[in-house]
Amino acid sequence: MPPRFEPGLSRIALRRGDITTEASADAIVNAANRSLLGGGGVDGAIHRAAGPALLAECRLLGGCDTGDAKITGAGRLPVQHVIHTVGPVWRGGGHGEARLLESCYRRSVEVGAAAGCGVLAFPAISCGVYGYPLDAAARVAVEALAAALTLHVRVREARFWLFSEEAYAAFDRAVKELGATS
Ligand code: ADP
Repeated sequence: MPPRFEPGLSRIALRRGDITTEASADAIVNAANRSLLGGGGVDGAIHRAAGPALLAECRLLGGCDTGDAKITGAGRLPVQHVIHTVGPVWRGGGHGEARLLESCYRRSVEVGAAAGCGVLAFPAISCGVYGYPLDAAARVAVEALAAALTLHVRVREARFWLFSEEAYAAFDRAVKELGATS
């Protein structure tokens, strides 16, 4: 049987550090909240780095549903676009969290591909204030992205920016696990 995820999986890269320093992607994905009007964590860092033009654009979008993604310009960030996606709040795992997290990654790739983006930079969506357990989130993220990249060849790379050593290790394990089973 041909490998299920191999074409997409090989286009996922992992980096340690701050996503707002990303300069060579076409779009940075933001782990936003449903208002799209800024927040803490990576959302706050992205808005601080982008400046007020990003918030002004976000105000026009009318928010975003959990699991969906919307695209804007990037203000002062050295990329073309920010893709705002809203991850699920972890409520124990029985409230559709995995399906919604999978949808965040899929919709971000769809929106990025439609805008002609070749490289997308991702944070670990839902893994901060929203409380999604790291290993479980990493498995969903890597599997969803590998599948989405296989479908959308225009996006040639998805690059995770992982803020902590712990997050990096979890995503590294997920990539290796999926590589071993696909
Ligand atoms: P959520 O509300 O979706 O949980 P958070 O912003 O609280 O979003 O956290 C998502 C992930 O982003 C966490 O793993 C957090 O450590 C990480 N993070 C926070 N700031 C940055 C940053 N500047 N670059 C990359 N990752 C970041």
